[in-house]
Amino acid sequence: MRNRTQHFINGEWVDSTGSETIDVINPATEEVIGKISSGTEEDLDRAVAAAKAAFPSFSQTTVEERIELLEKIAQEYEKRKDDIIEVITAELGSPISKSDKVHYQMGLQHFRQAAEELKTFQFEEERGETLIRKESIGVSGLITPWNFPTNQTSTKLASAFAAGSTVVLKPASNTPFAAFLLAEIFEAAGLPKGVFNLVTGSGSTIGNGISSHPDIDFVSFTGSGEVGQKIMENAASGIKKVSLELGGKSPLVILDDADIKGAAKTAVANVAMNTGQVCTAATRTLVPKSIHDEFVEAVKEVIAAFPVGDPLDKKTAVGPLVDDNQWDTVQSYIKKGMDEGATLVAGGTGKPDGLEKGYFTKITVFTDVKNDMTIAQEEIFGPVMSIITYDDIDEAIKIANDTIYGLAGYVYGNDKETLQKVAKGIRAGQVQVNNPRTDFSAPFGGFKQSGIGREWGDYGIEEFLEPKAILGYNA
Ligand code: NAD
Repeated sequence: MRNRTQHFINGEWVDSTGSETIDVINPATEEVIGKISSGTEEDLDRAVAAAKAAFPSFSQTTVEERIELLEKIAQEYEKRKDDIIEVITAELGSPISKSDKVHYQMGLQHFRQAAEELKTFQFEEERGETLIRKESIGVSGLITPWNFPTNQTSTKLASAFAAGSTVVLKPASNTPFAAFLLAEIFEAAGLPKGVFNLVTGSGSTIGNGISSHPDIDFVSFTGSGEVGQKIMENAASGIKKVSLELGGKSPLVILDDADIKGAAKTAVANVAMNTGQVCTAATRTLVPKSIHDEFVEAVKEVIAAFPVGDPLDKKTAVGPLVDDNQWDTVQSYIKKGMDEGATLVAGGTGKPDGLEKGYFTKITVFTDVKNDMTIAQEEIFGPVMSIITYDDIDEAIKIANDTIYGLAGYVYGNDKETLQKVAKGIRAGQVQVNNPRTDFSAPFGGFKQSGIGREWGDYGIEEFLEPKAILGYNA
């Protein structure tokens, strides 16, 4: 049992002023694996006070000092590789191979990338007599979701430290333990006291407390649109800057000259990854009518290569959903798809054979989906693909953009001109052409209701900075 009922405040592990705790469950076994403190407003106040006290000196550290710090953090992070993989598999149910190659790696790369960015980042610029400086924004409140316990936290933390901002982090209560490892990593790396503070607890107490706290200057949030809206409302009363990374309903446009097997693999891999619990998942697959039947057959074949099962088994590609709520949500969307008249090609409701314990669900594929159906418009956050046909590229782009979201887009095929036309035509913060490598220096974030602001690389650092003009500086 992991009983992590203390918060990390001002460089020390401290008890909560309250006594309530929250159980953490392993979604593959449904067993309680530990508990965390359900923090109080007083706990949050202490953490914010520590971050505020640490800000004057941390914000004045040199760029070289912060590069050294970020590199040290990356080194200490690497030393904890086995622990990180083990924790993510236990709390999220992520297959062990993905906990390593995706979750562990993404968490690491953000610290490395932030150190790299600082080597060339322009904090000052002279324009005639005027000096323009980018200064740290102040104390930042970071609120993160459960689906990528290291990636979501690391991208915010790396950018904040690079910018000289001190922080209070509230991780999601169902996958909190990875954040405790990060606290230990920062301690080992020698992060000054008060720069990083960790307070666990509910969204209603700690999350709300962060977005309305008078001593927090900036809230960086990743999660659902519903909560994002509440955060904006709270932040508005104090004119607090917010950055919101919200949901998506991203399209994958398959061109008529695509290799069909490759296209099917790309489509299935996209909804299978992290059991579909990915904000950028391509959940709407747009296929030319001319290749539809062949594509559907290829998808059915490919699914067999994505076994659902025990996350500890190295051969498992798809683990359980994170909890019973998420399981119920996904089941209700699958039912809705059937009720709305979409044709079930694979999967369906219920648990996969032999997996009665754990929040496992089947990779589910619908075709004959119309873009105005609920399953094509709402974020499901499960391994559910909607295949939608199109006649020509202009129609494909129109369908791709016919959503309230604009987080990501994907295009797969051969003709370069068409690939580029589709990539430019999709209104989303990040578009991927033919499965490129992850680029940690590229901005990440959403158009439309997918969010406000950007993370990753230099764009991520910018969020934690305020431009300041000193006129007459060089007069
Ligand atoms: P959520 O919005 O329910 O919770 C996110 C975080 O907010 C949690 O830490 C939660 O405790 C906290 N919270 C809850 N109520 C709050 C309140 N009133 N005030 C402040 N904080 C509060 O989201 P989730 O279920 O953890 O994650 C899934 C959602 O996150 C999906 O919609 C997904 O698309 C989105 N997401 C977006 C990105 C992105 O980068 N755009 C990445 C991952 C997940």
